[in-house]
Amino acid sequence: MTERVYLDWNATAPLRPEARRALVDALAVAGNPSSVHAEGRAARRLVEAAREQVAALVAAPPADVFFTSGGTEANMLALSPAIETAGEKRPREVLFISAIEHSSVRAGGRFRRKVIREVPVDAEGRVDLAALAAAVSDAERPLVSLMLANNETGVVQPVVQAAAIVHAAGGLLHVDAVQAAGRIPCAIAVLGADLLTLSAHKIGGPKGIGALVRLSENIHLADPLISGGGQERGMRAGTENVAGIAGFGAAAASASLKREEEAARMLALRNLLEDGLRAVAPRTVIFGAGAERLPNTTLFSLEGMKAETAVIAFDLEGVALSSGAACSSGKVQPSHVLAAMGVSPPFQRGALRVSLGWETTEADVERLLGAWRKVSTALSKGSKEQRGMAA
Ligand code: PLP
Repeated sequence: MTERVYLDWNATAPLRPEARRALVDALAVAGNPSSVHAEGRAARRLVEAAREQVAALVAAPPADVFFTSGGTEANMLALSPAIETAGEKRPREVLFISAIEHSSVRAGGRFRRKVIREVPVDAEGRVDLAALAAAVSDAERPLVSLMLANNETGVVQPVVQAAAIVHAAGGLLHVDAVQAAGRIPCAIAVLGADLLTLSAHKIGGPKGIGALVRLSENIHLADPLISGGGQERGMRAGTENVAGIAGFGAAAASASLKREEEAARMLALRNLLEDGLRAVAPRTVIFGAGAERLPNTTLFSLEGMKAETAVIAFDLEGVALSSGAACSSGKVQPSHVLAAMGVSPPFQRGALRVSLGWETTEADVERLLGAWRKVSTALSKGSKEQRGMAA
């Protein structure tokens, strides 16, 4: 049997060997990190070492990293009217998000639906900064949530410029860096973010662990989602997922160390992939191609293609890719990202996402292109037959 080719790294990345080792080793540590005895202190050391590694990925102070059960929970923790800054305790009344956010941000956290405002994006899938400036100009102390890179298109958002706009309006900026971390630089202060979300499984750590990072202690989360014990400085009760945290730390360290090298390799492979897609089917559309994108992500379409059928055809050829975001696959739903970019429904329906990772090889890309030849030929044959029948 030929080997499978996994090209769905934005849905989740395979566990890095370093993360697997750290995770398995941590399972052997018996103590509870809150216990004062030697066993407890050993577990605490693992948690705090990982906190330093995760903090280093985004150049934040370790004390400002709060572990959560993943990116979704970190987003929910961040999106609260009760986020306070030093000396400023009134609740925030409005949440602004871009029209292309992940569903965990679109849900709005603890904000009521009617106080959530959407900011449009341009045809390349970049947030419209003029619209953002206009939207926040008459809001009092707005909270704004923008992703650093989109999970479907890979388009990198102008977060630094957005931060200047948000801060000039007296607001706070939360950045969902789940897809960007480990792929492009994510230093929290350089981005201008006040809060930043990370998820371990997108950078080669285990699933079910993530973090909310704040710029400094001047930002108070004030409104924990889970209360009880005083873990994570009262912001996230419950005995820590020590093994998950240790795996996250190791993945973060490896992602930091290898980022530039991995990004350069992925970019070369992505160029090979996109040239190949267009060579096979010249009418292939690549979304966000005119914008800065993550080095590993290509979202493409052909008019008339049905993404669900194409994903199955690729799967039968041994290639795993996805139709838009993993969270919405399974449910046949048009992509809100492509809709916001003004992509017409016949192209939206065919959108396929290929996302590469550090284990992807040229041979993997060639396998995908071989399958693409079959899928696109079948498609053009089908449409010719349809035209023949209609005539
Ligand atoms: N934010 C973005 C941009 C994502 O792509 C995802 C996952 O796909 C999440 C948040 C949610 O992260 P998690 O799966 O850790 O809950």
